[in-house]
Amino acid sequence: MTDLISKADSSTPAAKLWIPEQVMFTPAALNEPWGQKIFERLQSLNLPIKELTSNRLTGLRGENERETYNIAKRTLAIVTAPPSQFKLSPIPPSADWQFHIAEGCPAHCQYCYLAGSLSGPPVIRTYANLPQILENLSNYEKPEKLTTYEVSCYTDPLGIEHLTGSLAECIRYFGTRSNANLRWVSKFDAVDSLLNLPHNGHTQCRISVNAAPISGRFEGGTASVASRLKALRKLADSGYQVGLVIAPIMPIDDWQIQYSRLFDLISEALDYNCALTFELISHRFTPGSKEVLQSWYPHSKLDMDEEKRRIKRNKFGGIKYVYDADTNNSMKQFFEAEIQNRFPNANILYWT
Ligand code: SF4
Repeated sequence: MTDLISKADSSTPAAKLWIPEQVMFTPAALNEPWGQKIFERLQSLNLPIKELTSNRLTGLRGENERETYNIAKRTLAIVTAPPSQFKLSPIPPSADWQFHIAEGCPAHCQYCYLAGSLSGPPVIRTYANLPQILENLSNYEKPEKLTTYEVSCYTDPLGIEHLTGSLAECIRYFGTRSNANLRWVSKFDAVDSLLNLPHNGHTQCRISVNAAPISGRFEGGTASVASRLKALRKLADSGYQVGLVIAPIMPIDDWQIQYSRLFDLISEALDYNCALTFELISHRFTPGSKEVLQSWYPHSKLDMDEEKRRIKRNKFGGIKYVYDADTNNSMKQFFEAEIQNRFPNANILYWT
């Protein structure tokens, strides 16, 4: 463990790698060759490993929601992906399909979008049957068109990469595919193990960033925005496609000034003409995600006042709270103008 930390410190001084307090393996995970690889990796780091007797994760509940959260966020469980994960879902506008190599994230963002998508204690689970997960992807490809896959819907894959190696395995796999691209996004910065992989230009790496008052106040346990941008530059220099996700965008006090400063940082980090994409996501929440987030972060100052929001319905009747049209439009115009002025060759993939 000491080696891992000191190595990380010398290459990326601003960030700390997450080290779980407990690691659990299910019997099914230990039966998988990729599970064995993760086992060896974790054993070499001297992490305390518990081999479970059943494939169910138990013993992770505390006396209240807050305690359960704390236990879960310090636990890494190596499990097998259930059969339902082999039926992929589309994920517009980010990619054609989403697939999962893990669920949960060691960071503590007070707006975390996982609060609305995952159920139960937010334990960090990673999948031991990765080769089967990857093999299944070709069933969704079409010979005549590029197919894109998003791997960061249920996790921050870079946040646990030092413990699993699974993101690197995905990148290697996509490097061998002629008509498929991988997309991932992170708020971490430990990219050194990815720089020399045979990616063949088939992976797009994005870093999620935000204005300083938001990242400083709401993004516990992540790398600093400056370190994330430094990491993105390293990935770009290694020939990866790169992009930025600015999310969740909020109309905080002086938001134009604060986001201009963020664009200054981006310009400094990527001070050459690279093919950059931007994905712009304004803050939203659902009744369900608000309830979960308030139990995880009861003292948070995150603004989730329904009175100040507009309701947006999806086709299944679910609702989310978004900014009113005027606020939304003025932010959208500001971001689009800043990007066009500063990065004329960048491609804005979407504003939502
Ligand atoms: S880094 Fe992403 S997944 Fe992790 S806690 Fe923050 S918002 Fe959630």
